[in-house]
Amino acid sequence: MAARQNDQAEIKQKVTCKRETFEDLMDVYQLLLEAYGPRHWWPAETPFEMMVGAILTQNTTWVNVEKAIRNMGKRLTSDYIAAAPLEELGELIRSSGYFRQKAQRLKNLTEWYAQYTYDIEKARARKGEALRAELLAIKGIGPETADSILLYALDKLFFVIDAYTRRILERLGYTLPQTYDELRMVIEQNILADLTVYQEFHALLVEHAKRHCTKEPRCCACPVEGICWYRQGKVT
Ligand code: SF4
Repeated sequence: MAARQNDQAEIKQKVTCKRETFEDLMDVYQLLLEAYGPRHWWPAETPFEMMVGAILTQNTTWVNVEKAIRNMGKRLTSDYIAAAPLEELGELIRSSGYFRQKAQRLKNLTEWYAQYTYDIEKARARKGEALRAELLAIKGIGPETADSILLYALDKLFFVIDAYTRRILERLGYTLPQTYDELRMVIEQNILADLTVYQEFHALLVEHAKRHCTKEPRCCACPVEGICWYRQGKVT
């Protein structure tokens, strides 16, 4: 009986034991950077191609996005997307899945971009918060897609949160706020306010989630195992 109570106390401790602050987040960044090197994400030839990629990557893998982008070829321009019949555009991006929905979303995005006469510098001249509000008002663009566009195409300091971010930070032992924006802000408050750091940190977390911190984590030789509370058995 006493042994069982001890076991339960230990389990409870494992679940409730959490890091108290996010102050050492930059240490995580440095370790990942040393292990994987700069990722130079997002792979796109133009800021508009980046924005298109941010829509195409919703609910699919990057391999499927690449196929769709290749298929669009020289038609990957704002002029083409604005004028193309919806069905024709959908066929071009079929490999990315939900292609009818995404074709409409690309048109919505392009319509928004038209107010800046498809000139990225004009869009960049706007304040980040104003741009974010505009992007979030577009049907089919949620916080993750909006922040990806803000960070990688519009050069604005908004940290991108995805499922990988939550998985890794939770395993490292951080207490994560529930909502997207709360987590974004707590990360932003604890890392260097620098565009390269924001871009690289997000990309490094994605890389880490694919190489080591997979669904079933491959902890052996993980670059952050020395500071990982899951590895140390403090969290489950
Ligand atoms: S040690 Fe394991 S759980 Fe911790 S970050 Fe690395 S892969 Fe993930």
